[in-house]
Amino acid sequence: MEYDKMLTRLYGSLPEKSISKERFELPKLDSTVQGKKTIIKNFSQAIKSVKRDEKAFYKYITKETATAGVLADGKLTLTGKFWPEVLEKLFNNYLKEYVLCHECGKPDTEIAERSGVKMLKCTACGALSPLKKIR
Ligand SMILES: [Zn+2]
Repeated sequence: MEYDKMLTRLYGSLPEKSISKERFELPKLDSTVQGKKTIIKNFSQAIKSVKRDEKAFYKYITKETATAGVLADGKLTLTGKFWPEVLEKLFNNYLKEYVLCHECGKPDTEIAERSGVKMLKCTACGALSPLKKIR
């Protein structure tokens, strides 16, 4: 008999939680298209949960969607129709570039500056990665 099966027999089936490794849950954008506008309802909350500045993300998203946006009451209203999948992809790209460590992929990072260059500093592995500037 295989060792794994023996263990299962000994301890019974383990609950899912203790098997799956502890993982950081990335926030998701909650958006809705209304007429010719798109509203991201949890804009501020989502970006604050990864400890990033909402202004920087605002700049990023309006540049990437090439549209104007109004940020008010934690909500971002974009001019134009952007389906949730599109915004989700943009958000994931942002997280990959500006939140998740480029070396180890953990979200335990902060923005540091070295000689005027913005860097992503990882508190988990110590990696420093230069960041692309949002124009
Ligand atoms: Zn790291």
